[in-house]
Amino acid sequence: MKIGFIGLGNMGGPMATNLAAAGHAVTGFDLIAPCPEGVSAADSARSAATGRDVVITMLPNGDILRSVAADIIPVMAAGAAFLDCSTVDVQSARDVADQYKAAGLLALDAPVSGGVGGATAGTLTFMAGGSDAAFAKAEPLFDIMGQKAVHCGPSGNGQAAKICNNMILGVTMIATCEAFALADKLGLSREKMFDVVSTSSGYSWTMNAYCPAPGVGPQSPADNDYQPGFAADLMLKDLRLSQQAAQAVDADTPMGQSATDLYTQFVELENGSGMDFSAMLPRFEKRGRG
Ligand code: NAD
Repeated sequence: MKIGFIGLGNMGGPMATNLAAAGHAVTGFDLIAPCPEGVSAADSARSAATGRDVVITMLPNGDILRSVAADIIPVMAAGAAFLDCSTVDVQSARDVADQYKAAGLLALDAPVSGGVGGATAGTLTFMAGGSDAAFAKAEPLFDIMGQKAVHCGPSGNGQAAKICNNMILGVTMIATCEAFALADKLGLSREKMFDVVSTSSGYSWTMNAYCPAPGVGPQSPADNDYQPGFAADLMLKDLRLSQQAAQAVDADTPMGQSATDLYTQFVELENGSGMDFSAMLPRFEKRGRG
């Protein structure tokens, strides 16, 4: 396929590389990031999108997605597919999809889970929203860039799945970290705490696969000085998107709101920016109730 790839940052760069390595003709554009090897560089988003079978975007937020969409829709080939893999707000995903459809193009929102490691290894999970035809066109590309793709329903549902998943992740990470800090103060060793919880009803991905305590459980960012991994800043972004969506549909999400407040404090006031999101544990261990 002829593929245009717009947004070649930490995630988009390796995703574009994998598509090119699989034999697709990939033309890329980014305002700043260099074009990875095997990908031909375009001098604008429009030229990356012109005449391609599929155009993929991997951009920072919904406003940028909207402006890139407005720029490229007029030059996209009839019947081409647009695949947005960025994490953006549900409303932007739905509005942009409507514009593509009105122009006779296929549109899919397909945010990812798996981080830079998954993007590089080609093991991302895609959560997709859009028509069956759009999903069918994108599926062979998902097979290259990832290990699993779930068609979650109509446009915007990929983003809905992503923010619901990450709201659970943020809340669970906080619960795991505060429980470790409590266990410390009760004189329970972290090793014993892990042995019990990882095989009891408190188990979770954050405890079992991504344990926030250094030297305990499998290797995780905690064993690397809390270098990300998944940065607290990105967790905060996703939590804010979850609360924006909850507000829009009048959903009661008190734990999601608390997690958003705590990550806001951590990132904006407590030097959490640039740390892995599991660095909540050293934050809690230093604190008392006051
Ligand atoms: P990034 O900042 O490294 O990459 C975004 C790229 O978009 C940058 O290189 C930037 O120059 C480029 N860009 C911005 N505006 C542009 C424009 N108008 N035209 C062309 N290029 C433009 O971010 P990232 O870590 O690659 O994340 C990309 C998306 O993936 C985000 O929505 C993020 O939330 C999501 N995501 C990231 C991770 C992760 O672990 N990094 C995991 C899952 C999802």
